[in-house]
Amino acid sequence: MAARVRALETILTQKGLIEPAAVDAIVDTYETKVGPRNGAKVVARAWCDPGYSDWLKQDATAAIASLGYTGRQGEHMQAVFNTEDAHNLVVCTLCSCYPWSVLGLPPVWYKAPAYRSRAVIDPRGVLEEFGVHLPAQTKIRVWDSTAELRYLVVPMRPTGTEDLSEEELAALVTRDSMIGTGLALEPYQP
Ligand code: FE
Repeated sequence: MAARVRALETILTQKGLIEPAAVDAIVDTYETKVGPRNGAKVVARAWCDPGYSDWLKQDATAAIASLGYTGRQGEHMQAVFNTEDAHNLVVCTLCSCYPWSVLGLPPVWYKAPAYRSRAVIDPRGVLEEFGVHLPAQTKIRVWDSTAELRYLVVPMRPTGTEDLSEEELAALVTRDSMIGTGLALEPYQP
Protein backbone atom coordinates (compact mmCIF):
# COMPACT_ATOMS: atom_id res chain seq x y z
CA MET A 1 0.00 0.00 0.00
CA ALA A 2 2.79 2.43 0.92
CA ALA A 3 4.57 1.72 -2.38
CA ARG A 4 1.35 2.27 -4.33
CA VAL A 5 0.74 5.57 -2.56
CA ARG A 6 4.30 6.68 -3.30
CA ALA A 7 3.93 5.71 -6.97
CA LEU A 8 0.63 7.57 -7.25
CA GLU A 9 2.02 10.64 -5.54
CA THR A 10 5.05 10.61 -7.90
CA ILE A 11 2.91 10.36 -11.03
CA LEU A 12 0.44 13.03 -9.87
CA THR A 13 3.33 15.34 -8.96
CA GLN A 14 5.06 14.77 -12.33
CA LYS A 15 1.83 15.58 -14.13
CA GLY A 16 1.57 18.76 -12.08
CA LEU A 17 -1.76 17.74 -10.58
CA ILE A 18 -0.67 17.98 -6.95
CA GLU A 19 1.83 19.97 -4.91
CA PRO A 20 3.95 17.77 -2.64
CA ALA A 21 3.98 20.54 -0.01
CA ALA A 22 0.17 20.59 -0.01
CA VAL A 23 0.03 16.82 0.49
CA ASP A 24 2.53 17.10 3.35
CA ALA A 25 0.42 19.83 4.95
CA ILE A 26 -2.70 17.63 4.80
CA VAL A 27 -0.88 14.63 6.27
CA ASP A 28 0.60 16.80 9.03
CA THR A 29 -2.84 18.20 9.83
CA TYR A 30 -4.34 14.76 10.44
CA GLU A 31 -1.24 13.43 12.19
CA THR A 32 -0.66 16.28 14.61
CA LYS A 33 -3.41 18.91 14.59
CA VAL A 34 -6.74 17.14 14.26
CA GLY A 35 -7.74 14.41 16.64
CA PRO A 36 -9.92 13.46 19.59
CA ARG A 37 -8.11 15.88 21.93
CA ASN A 38 -10.03 18.64 20.11
CA GLY A 39 -13.35 17.03 20.95
CA ALA A 40 -12.21 16.44 24.52
CA LYS A 41 -11.63 20.18 24.93
CA VAL A 42 -15.15 20.87 23.65
CA VAL A 43 -16.64 18.43 26.15
CA ALA A 44 -14.57 19.75 29.06
CA ARG A 45 -15.64 23.31 28.23
CA ALA A 46 -19.28 22.21 28.17
CA TRP A 47 -18.88 20.52 31.56
CA CYS A 48 -17.36 23.69 33.08
CA ASP A 49 -19.41 26.41 31.43
CA PRO A 50 -23.23 26.09 31.38
CA GLY A 51 -23.48 28.94 28.87
CA TYR A 52 -21.16 27.15 26.49
CA SER A 53 -23.05 23.89 27.07
CA ASP A 54 -26.33 25.58 26.08
CA TRP A 55 -24.70 27.03 22.97
CA LEU A 56 -23.34 23.60 22.08
CA LYS A 57 -26.85 22.17 22.42
CA GLN A 58 -28.39 24.88 20.25
CA ASP A 59 -25.71 25.34 17.60
CA ALA A 60 -22.88 22.85 17.87
CA THR A 61 -21.28 23.97 14.62
CA ALA A 62 -20.78 27.53 15.87
CA ALA A 63 -19.88 26.56 19.45
CA ILE A 64 -17.22 24.13 18.22
CA ALA A 65 -15.90 26.59 15.63
CA SER A 66 -15.46 29.19 18.39
CA LEU A 67 -12.69 26.98 19.81
CA GLY A 68 -11.03 26.87 16.40
CA TYR A 69 -12.21 23.43 15.29
CA THR A 70 -13.62 23.72 11.83
CA GLY A 71 -12.97 22.26 8.45
CA ARG A 72 -13.64 19.23 6.37
CA GLN A 73 -16.09 16.65 7.69
CA GLY A 74 -17.10 18.98 10.48
CA GLU A 75 -19.07 21.61 8.60
CA HIS A 76 -22.39 20.69 10.24
CA MET A 77 -22.29 19.36 13.76
CA GLN A 78 -24.83 18.30 16.34
CA ALA A 79 -23.90 17.59 19.96
CA VAL A 80 -25.92 14.94 21.77
CA PHE A 81 -25.74 14.88 25.56
CA ASN A 82 -25.77 11.72 27.63
CA THR A 83 -27.95 11.69 30.75
CA GLU A 84 -28.95 9.10 33.35
CA ASP A 85 -32.03 8.44 31.21
CA ALA A 86 -30.54 8.32 27.72
CA HIS A 87 -27.22 7.24 26.25
CA ASN A 88 -26.26 8.32 22.73
CA LEU A 89 -24.40 6.14 20.24
CA VAL A 90 -23.11 7.31 16.85
CA VAL A 91 -22.72 5.22 13.73
CA CYS A 92 -22.70 5.72 9.98
CA THR A 93 -24.71 2.82 8.65
CA LEU A 94 -24.05 3.78 5.04
CA CYS A 95 -20.28 4.29 5.12
CA SER A 96 -18.03 5.98 7.66
CA CYS A 97 -19.13 9.62 8.13
CA TYR A 98 -17.35 10.94 11.21
CA PRO A 99 -16.63 14.40 12.67
CA TRP A 100 -12.99 14.79 11.65
CA SER A 101 -12.63 18.31 13.05
CA VAL A 102 -13.23 17.15 16.61
CA LEU A 103 -12.33 13.44 16.55
CA GLY A 104 -9.75 13.06 13.79
CA LEU A 105 -9.91 10.05 11.51
CA PRO A 106 -12.29 7.21 12.40
CA PRO A 107 -11.05 3.99 14.00
CA VAL A 108 -11.08 0.88 11.81
CA TRP A 109 -13.99 -0.71 13.67
CA TYR A 110 -16.16 2.37 13.01
CA LYS A 111 -15.92 1.61 9.29
CA ALA A 112 -16.50 -2.14 9.68
CA PRO A 113 -19.81 -3.59 8.41
CA ALA A 114 -20.27 -5.46 11.70
CA TYR A 115 -20.31 -2.25 13.77
CA ARG A 116 -22.40 -0.35 11.22
CA SER A 117 -25.15 -2.96 11.14
CA ARG A 118 -25.11 -4.16 14.73
CA ALA A 119 -25.06 -0.67 16.24
CA VAL A 120 -28.63 -0.25 15.01
CA ILE A 121 -29.82 -3.87 15.39
CA ASP A 122 -28.45 -4.47 18.88
CA PRO A 123 -26.92 -1.31 20.35
CA ARG A 124 -27.04 -2.63 23.92
CA GLY A 125 -25.17 -5.78 22.88
CA VAL A 126 -22.56 -3.73 21.02
CA LEU A 127 -22.06 -1.49 24.06
CA GLU A 128 -21.61 -4.55 26.28
CA GLU A 129 -18.83 -5.72 23.98
CA PHE A 130 -17.16 -2.32 24.38
CA GLY A 131 -17.39 -2.82 28.15
CA VAL A 132 -20.19 -0.28 28.59
CA HIS A 133 -22.83 -1.71 30.91
CA LEU A 134 -25.80 0.62 31.18
CA PRO A 135 -28.68 0.29 33.62
CA ALA A 136 -31.69 -1.42 31.98
CA GLN A 137 -33.78 1.74 32.35
CA THR A 138 -31.27 3.87 30.42
CA LYS A 139 -32.53 4.29 26.88
CA ILE A 140 -30.07 4.09 24.01
CA ARG A 141 -30.46 6.52 21.17
CA VAL A 142 -28.56 5.70 17.97
CA TRP A 143 -27.62 8.55 15.61
CA ASP A 144 -26.90 7.74 11.98
CA SER A 145 -24.28 10.15 10.62
CA THR A 146 -24.47 11.45 7.10
CA ALA A 147 -22.36 13.54 4.78
CA GLU A 148 -24.58 16.46 5.87
CA LEU A 149 -24.53 16.10 9.64
CA ARG A 150 -22.01 14.66 12.11
CA TYR A 151 -22.56 13.99 15.79
CA LEU A 152 -20.45 14.53 18.88
CA VAL A 153 -21.52 12.70 22.02
CA VAL A 154 -21.07 14.69 25.22
CA PRO A 155 -20.54 12.03 27.87
CA MET A 156 -21.72 12.54 31.43
CA ARG A 157 -19.23 14.27 33.70
CA PRO A 158 -17.85 11.69 36.15
CA THR A 159 -18.68 12.21 39.82
CA GLY A 160 -15.92 13.45 42.09
CA THR A 161 -14.50 15.82 39.50
CA GLU A 162 -15.74 19.10 41.02
CA ASP A 163 -12.22 20.26 41.82
CA LEU A 164 -10.61 19.40 38.49
CA SER A 165 -9.51 22.06 36.02
CA GLU A 166 -10.85 22.14 32.49
CA GLU A 167 -7.56 20.67 31.26
CA GLU A 168 -7.69 17.84 33.80
CA LEU A 169 -11.29 17.15 32.82
CA ALA A 170 -10.38 16.98 29.12
CA ALA A 171 -7.92 14.19 29.96
CA LEU A 172 -10.89 12.07 31.12
CA VAL A 173 -12.69 12.38 27.79
CA THR A 174 -11.80 9.47 25.53
CA ARG A 175 -12.41 9.19 21.82
CA ASP A 176 -14.84 6.33 22.37
CA SER A 177 -16.80 8.33 24.94
CA MET A 178 -17.48 10.91 22.23
CA ILE A 179 -18.72 8.22 19.81
CA GLY A 180 -20.82 6.68 22.57
CA THR A 181 -19.00 3.35 22.69
CA GLY A 182 -17.32 4.39 25.93
CA LEU A 183 -17.84 6.52 29.02
CA ALA A 184 -15.67 9.30 30.37
CA LEU A 185 -12.91 7.96 32.61
CA GLU A 186 -13.18 8.16 36.37
CA PRO A 187 -10.64 10.58 37.87
CA TYR A 188 -7.30 9.07 38.94
CA GLN A 189 -8.16 5.80 37.25
CA PRO A 190 -4.91 3.91 36.53
FE1 FE B 1 -20.81 7.80 5.93
